[in-house]
Amino acid sequence: MERYADLHVHTTFSDGSFTPDEVARRARALGFAALGICDHDTVEGFPAARAAGVAHGIEVLPAIELSTKATAGQQHILGYCCDGTHPELVATLRRLRTAREDRMRLMLAKLGELGIDISTADLWALADGGAIGRPHLARLLQERGVVPTIQDAFVTLIGRDGPAFVPKLVLTAEEAIALIKAAGGVPIIAHPIHLAAPEADIERLVAAGAMGIEAYYSDNTPADTERFLAIARRANLLVTGGSDCHGTAKDQLCLGMVHLPYAEVEKLKAAAGR
Ligand code: AMP
Ligand code: FE
Ligand code: FE
Ligand code: ZN
Repeated sequence: MERYADLHVHTTFSDGSFTPDEVARRARALGFAALGICDHDTVEGFPAARAAGVAHGIEVLPAIELSTKATAGQQHILGYCCDGTHPELVATLRRLRTAREDRMRLMLAKLGELGIDISTADLWALADGGAIGRPHLARLLQERGVVPTIQDAFVTLIGRDGPAFVPKLVLTAEEAIALIKAAGGVPIIAHPIHLAAPEADIERLVAAGAMGIEAYYSDNTPADTERFLAIARRANLLVTGGSDCHGTAKDQLCLGMVHLPYAEVEKLKAAAGR
């Protein structure tokens, strides 16, 4: 029987709505052999991710998704098989976390100027110790009845062009790739379908040390996936894939939509050992 993996699922350690335990339970029930638990800019969920894998009898790869600057918007770099206790990694993530909190304070101040009062305490409580981001704020705005949907929160208030938007301090892609490698991990270009110029951007990021691309992804058409698999073959890159499921934090539940052949997981793990 073919074995499959979903190597990109978020949890409550960042902006997902499921705990690592719930994600592992669901992935196991869907028949996956392996699961990548990825959270934004944090390794704090690694122990819980491993424990969830043991509890539900599914191989779990703890991973990180680092936000980086790109020419247009953002580029995310996934890091698999990192040492979550690596001092440089831990120190950098702590710095990013403080920056996220400072940024949220600025966004709450801007909302205050618009007559929308949300306390830091309420927002912090919703994030529950996880890496705090606009999705948390969007959820709170919806819960308070300020906007009818999470999507509306982005469109009218906190999206890139919204009146309460403040940019986030992020690493450059080069810094993120080097950091993942320093921590013994494998840097992978996340969701290349969302790159402004996929071919050129992949080439640039590979030159900076990225070792693979997330060729299978929930927003891809089958033709997109074929295109990325061909790029990976030509450039001799690792191939990963994942749903990028955020639980019910985003509109649709995409766990189970993406199936990465397990052989690619073995290549990924072998690359980490190099
Ligand atoms: P942040 O890292 O705090 O800037 O938040 C970025 C995250 O917000 C993205 O990873 C998405 O999960 C979410 N996001 C951005 N734009 C939208 C949107 N228009 N609708 C829903 N979620 C969005
Ligand atoms: Fe997210
Ligand atoms: Fe991403
Ligand atoms: Zn993601």
